[in-house]
Amino acid sequence: MKHLIPYLQDDQKAADYLRQVRWPDGVTCPRCGSDAVTPRERCDNGLQRFNCVPCAGRLGQQFAICTDWTSSIFEESKLRPLDWLLVMGLWQLQLNATEIAAAANIQERTAQRCINLLDGGIYETYHLEPTRQLEHQVEADECYQSAGSKGLAREVERHERAPRQRGIQLRGRATAETGRPPLLGLVQRRDKTDQDAPAAQVYLEVLENVRTTTIKPIIAAKVKSGAQFFTDEYNIYRFTKADYDHRTVNHGAGEYARRDPDGTCVHCNTMEGIWASLRNFLDRFKGISQRFLHLRVARYEFLHNYGHLPWRQTFEAALRCIFSTTGDYWRRMTHQHRRMPLTLCYR
Ligand SMILES: [Zn+2]
Repeated sequence: MKHLIPYLQDDQKAADYLRQVRWPDGVTCPRCGSDAVTPRERCDNGLQRFNCVPCAGRLGQQFAICTDWTSSIFEESKLRPLDWLLVMGLWQLQLNATEIAAAANIQERTAQRCINLLDGGIYETYHLEPTRQLEHQVEADECYQSAGSKGLAREVERHERAPRQRGIQLRGRATAETGRPPLLGLVQRRDKTDQDAPAAQVYLEVLENVRTTTIKPIIAAKVKSGAQFFTDEYNIYRFTKADYDHRTVNHGAGEYARRDPDGTCVHCNTMEGIWASLRNFLDRFKGISQRFLHLRVARYEFLHNYGHLPWRQTFEAALRCIFSTTGDYWRRMTHQHRRMPLTLCYR
């Protein structure tokens, strides 16, 4: 985080740094893409104004003004560039809203909104990126995360049931409806023979339930066919025989890892390790609403997959993701959640 210190001196320096990350090759108009933009006077909060000459011409006006934040997630925010930069540094440190609010000296509600915007930006751009696929050696496993209707009294009413009882074991496989949404985890093992190989790459998806019909399209989209595919004996994965070199360990019989005759190590221990570290991360939020679970999971996924890089590179990669969307996802989600069942919100 040390590299941020020079940019945290005032709003102008913070705005300059954020602009440099958004447009490393020079500012272009967020509306038309033209680079024929001329700087104008700054806004009160330090953001640079620009006049886009082609846009002005098309609109028949003298000026068509945009700023550093036009058409970005930050556009409607009242938070100053310096505060945003600080919040983003704290966000990368995996802090929760209470901790960010205290450290950045902002209101907790504001901090909550900030992390939802940032997590939402990562979810929309990085998590939903269709071309990101796993290959070679991929482990799959599922786990269950307690997540209820925290902060949504009306949701509890709508289900016509008492608030979820904590610590009670329900019979059968948990679902989102029972307050324990399942997560599907896919991880591409790190290639140990390649010194420069990145960390193990994960893909994590919050599910409604763990039926084959639910997980099949996800696995087909995210794992390249022909990959080695390691799971436990759970029968929902049987369909993967068709497209993958599917091998299973029998947890029920006490088998957790084995070496096949061809030298392949069959286990799901990489994924087990990631579950432990994800739980550790989610515990920081001290009870998580089902509405936000997929956002927090997306932050974990991103930070995990970029975790092998130096801090600054990860920070700027996150910023480029966040700048590549206008935050429509988050606006849609906050608009819809009042009228839609929880389980549909995160689609
Ligand atoms: Zn323009």
